[in-house]
Amino acid sequence: PVALSVQGLQKIYSSDTGDVEAVRDLTFELRQGELVCLVGPSGCGKTTLLRCIAGLLDPTAGTVTLDGAVVTGPPKKMAVVFQEYGRSLFAWLTVRQNVELPLKNAGMPKAERQKAVSEALHAVGLEHAESSYPWQLSGGMQQRVAIARAVAYKPEVLLMDEPFAAVDAQTRADLEDLIRRVWKELGVTVLFITHDIDESVYLGERVLILSNSPTVIQEDLTIDLPAD
Ligand code: ADP
Ligand code: ADP
Repeated sequence: PVALSVQGLQKIYSSDTGDVEAVRDLTFELRQGELVCLVGPSGCGKTTLLRCIAGLLDPTAGTVTLDGAVVTGPPKKMAVVFQEYGRSLFAWLTVRQNVELPLKNAGMPKAERQKAVSEALHAVGLEHAESSYPWQLSGGMQQRVAIARAVAYKPEVLLMDEPFAAVDAQTRADLEDLIRRVWKELGVTVLFITHDIDESVYLGERVLILSNSPTVIQEDLTIDLPAD
């Protein structure tokens, strides 16, 4: 079944100095449980596309459909991990409290919430750090907290916008492996956006290659993932 469908999506930014067409007539689908990387050069419209999918930005034309329902605002079934993880965590809350907060806000009962948080922390290997504060952790660990928070309420679709751009190469490789593990363990549909072609081919089951601005899909590749 189709989890996410983008149909004829267009986004034009208008300002006094003129219009910028960031995304042009983009159409693609993500099947349930797929891990898809979208790769393209800086400025080709990736972030714009992701914001439209996440319901944070209104497209000029076209639709985004999640589970058959048109996205008109941030959907509950979708979680987003951005590049600037450090800023997305609350410094005065522990790791566990950071992961728990959105579940609390969503009104999830305490017992269920605690179980979900423990599972999410386990999935990213951070059980031992649950009482730490974000500022006590490395960038890579902070990004793991952000991933745990995103998957804790079991979203159907996980969107990631260059989440590892700000960490060193080794940490990045570890986080890529982590994403694959979390994806397999939780069966979530993942859309991972990056400008790094190597990363996209390493990580993705399927890679959509975007051209320069405005965005159009040039290739749709299927990658054989190593068995493990
Ligand atoms: P990235 O390449 O990592 O996606 P950018 O540097 O292109 O980031 O954009 C950073 C921020 O600036 C984004 O919020 C984007 O929407 C905004 N932005 C980018 N280009 C423009 C522009 N020409 N006018 C106004 N805002 C812009
Ligand atoms: P990417 O994420 O691939 O770097 P973006 O979606 O950030 O691409 O930007 C695509 C194009 O849209 C770029 O030309 C950028 O300058 C422009 N753009 C992005 N955000 C804005 C904005 N808020 N206002 C005007 N132009 C923007």
